[in-house]
Order: sequence, then structure tokens, then C-alpha cells
Amino acid sequence: MIATIPYIENKFQEYNELIFDGKLPELPIKLSKAKTSLGQLAFKRRRTWYGRTVYSDFRLRVSTHFDLPENELEDIIIHEMIHYYIFVNRLKDKSAHGPLFRQMMKDTNIRYGRNISISRKQKELTTATQ
Ligand SMILES: [Zn+2]
Repeated sequence: MIATIPYIENKFQEYNELIFDGKLPELPIKLSKAKTSLGQLAFKRRRTWYGRTVYSDFRLRVSTHFDLPENELEDIIIHEMIHYYIFVNRLKDKSAHGPLFRQMMKDTNIRYGRNISISRKQKELTTATQ
């Protein structure tokens, strides 16, 4: 199936309640034509004068370039939600798909029978410096 905004919004709410305890703030959802990544979490990053990194303006983008089985599309949405959870809670990880991300992904796969994976394409987290 091809993603639509209402579909992604529904899934976001459903998995927010089911997996993330309803703790993820709503964010704008956009469709893209990206061929290199299925899902993207876009955000702005800036440093405060005292050196703290602040993330803001999160957007979830899902590509409509691919016609995927529904469970794969769901896994992509959850994958991006794990990134979002790590940012929102200011958790530290060594890299975008570091040990914390991998642990959360593994736990979610086991607990909810998912098949979330790490994309081979690394262009997935997009930052725009403010
Ligand atoms: Zn990722």
C-alpha cells in the first residue's frame, strides 16, 4: 500500500498509545517522493550559548514512492517513532542507530511481534541547522 497522511496519523496515534505510553507529542506528518529513504524524521538542531544542543520542529516524512506491504509500512513508522522517542526524552545514544536504538527496536520487535529493521540507507535523519 501507499502511505497517506490520515493513515500515518492513525498509526502514529495507535502506536503512541500501544508502544510509547502516549508520551510522544503530535508532530506534522508529510509525504515525500524520496527514493532513498522510506521514512525520515526531520528536525532542526541548534546549540544554545551555553553549549547544549536543542532539537525542535520535528516532522515525520514517509515516502509515497514505494508500494509496500502494510506491515512494512507500519514498521517504518514505528522505526521513526523510536528515533522521535529518543530525542523527545533527551536520551543519549552513540549514533542514530546506536545501542539504545537497537535495544528499543529489539524490545519492540519481541514484545509486539514486529519486524523493525535498520535501513541500509543512511540518509534517513534530516537536519536543518537553524
Ligand atoms: Zn533510523
